[in-house]
Amino acid sequence: MLRARDAVLSVPQIPQLTSGRSGICLDLNENTAGPSPRVLARLRSLTAADISLYPERAAVEAVVAKHLGVGPQEVLLTNGVDEAIVLLFSTFLGPGDDALYPVPTFPMYPICATAAGARTVGIATDRDFRFPAAALRAAISPQTRLIAVANPNNPTGALAPRKELLAILEAAPHSAVLVDEAYYEFSGETMLGELPRFPNLFVARTFSKAYGLAALRVGCLVGAAEHMDAVRRLAPPFSVNSVALACLPEALADQDHVSACVTAVKRERARLDAAFSKYGIRTWPSHGNFVLADLGKWHAEFTAELAKDGIHVRDRGADPACAGCVRITIGTSAEMDRFYAVLPGVLQRTGWHVAV
Ligand code: PMP
Repeated sequence: MLRARDAVLSVPQIPQLTSGRSGICLDLNENTAGPSPRVLARLRSLTAADISLYPERAAVEAVVAKHLGVGPQEVLLTNGVDEAIVLLFSTFLGPGDDALYPVPTFPMYPICATAAGARTVGIATDRDFRFPAAALRAAISPQTRLIAVANPNNPTGALAPRKELLAILEAAPHSAVLVDEAYYEFSGETMLGELPRFPNLFVARTFSKAYGLAALRVGCLVGAAEHMDAVRRLAPPFSVNSVALACLPEALADQDHVSACVTAVKRERARLDAAFSKYGIRTWPSHGNFVLADLGKWHAEFTAELAKDGIHVRDRGADPACAGCVRITIGTSAEMDRFYAVLPGVLQRTGWHVAV
């Protein structure tokens, strides 16, 4: 009888993330302000040939490499950072290897490590969600072949200190070290400049967040050319589609749009922290376009009640690593105004313990 590989069957099934979303979507860390108008103009100018021929990514890879200040051989455009993670983990991990990552973090790391047949070593953070640098370094062994750090982390928004990342790169020359900078534009912190010093470093960037291109599915993986050659062997040749490739240079050319979105997110993020604090709801300092809030035993009701008012947020409260937590993406000012308009009623209906 046909049966999937045991390693694959041991991957826990995650609930479908996008089922009938409408209204205000503050649940998946997208840029709800949308992409640059230049992207929309390029979309409208697409021709039949743009759609009927297979995509060619090399020219756009060169544009992205220039933008990042690295060589074209060091960059692979991928179908979102999700594909970059699949490829990197498949390239370096197999049975008998260890994959290390802080917990909580982005679920694709344990999924891809488990599917590769590797041992998953989640390094617990305490309730302040600070980067568990010492414990992570202590867990490095000769079996460690991959270390993944989302920086800033999702869902906590925490930033790993640069000197701790450097210490890990030094301590694990035999391991691929992925620094996933999906939220780089909001944090301004990058390890890209360390690539010449560390051939074991890989940096991932996405165009789904600050650039507002989540539906086009495009991201990239950057690393030493010799290792990127290995990753490229696995990469499906046409996984980045022509629509994404046509639009990406336009999105990159409009840095004013990106800066304006980032500035607005930072302003609204501070406003959200202040609003929650007024109700006695703890939040954690975030360097991304989202905020994690502690709704305690009310996390599920809070999420459900907000949805009744047409606002979708992400309940992470059943996850033991962030019990009671709900993640809220920073929307536009108008969307956040609506959030604040319904918040007192939502808290009242959920029975939040502070008088509202
Ligand atoms: N890494 C992190 C840390 C993320 O939060 C996300 C998206 N939520 C991704 C990668 C995947 O991004 P993409 O849309 O580029 O696949």
